[in-house]
Amino acid sequence: MKFAIVANDLPKSQNVKRNLEKKLLECHMVEDEKHPEIVITIGGDGTLLSAFHKYQDQLESIRFVGVHTGHLGFYTDWREDEIDDLVVSLQSDNGQSISYPLLEVQVKYANEPHMKKYIALNEAALKKIGTTLVTDVYIGGEFFESFRGDGLCVSTPTGSTAYNKSLGGAVVHPNLEVMQVAEIGSINNRVFRTVSAPMIIAPRDWVTLYPDHGTDFVLTIDALTKSGCKIEKIMFKIAKQRIYFAKYRHQHFWRRVQDAFIGDANGV
Ligand code: NAP
Repeated sequence: MKFAIVANDLPKSQNVKRNLEKKLLECHMVEDEKHPEIVITIGGDGTLLSAFHKYQDQLESIRFVGVHTGHLGFYTDWREDEIDDLVVSLQSDNGQSISYPLLEVQVKYANEPHMKKYIALNEAALKKIGTTLVTDVYIGGEFFESFRGDGLCVSTPTGSTAYNKSLGGAVVHPNLEVMQVAEIGSINNRVFRTVSAPMIIAPRDWVTLYPDHGTDFVLTIDALTKSGCKIEKIMFKIAKQRIYFAKYRHQHFWRRVQDAFIGDANGV
């Protein structure tokens, strides 16, 4: 099995990386940073997010495994002190996996002839700094609303617990192949009106934004930020590609949500 390890810069994560690397090489596994079959991340959800983008062109041949060196994450199943168990699981790997939906984003920049394509694991957001974002919103090709406010965020099910949740969006089980649109600071008064609620969009429908002219747009795709761009149109859809994780043990999604956001607060 060919593996690659992506760790964040924390000394703790770097130590785990060295330890794991040594153990995997002792088991005659092959380290291949360019074309791995398994990518093991060490750090947090943010580390998995950066590894995803590093290998986003090879998603069909890669499975991810997340080791957390802080708190349990949404993309990280293994604790740093479970490295030996992880090595045993990797040795007896029989290709088992679980996959989750991704978001496809197509952007038509004013100064470029063709649409530019991006892929997001968590979400993409269009915002404006300084002035109000004004954009027509189409769903499934039909005009839906004219939005005014700070911005709009479109998230995947696994991204629903990230920025989307801070915006009051719903937590979505990742077995559902849907995307969610959440408002960022919408303006609602006697003149301007938006739906003022997060919306769950069906898999085949595109959400399309036609922002009013301006150049102070900020477009974020997970941790990537593009600012000062002139955008004519943005389209969002559930992508054809999916992300695959090596599934060596079952993690109950709602247990993970409880652990991350409620903890012992309601414990008896
Ligand atoms: P980052 O430090 O990599 O991530 C920010 C925080 O979001 C970290 O605590 C990270 O967890 C957590 N996170 C990432 N993905 C998550 C997920 N799917 N579910 C729950 N929590 C998740 O910062 P960054 O480099 O800017 O990363 C971009 C991500 O940050 C975006 O995709 C966005 O979702 C999130 N973000 C959140 C807000 C907000 O909540 N107001 C604002 C901007 C961006 P770990 O500590 O485990 O890495």
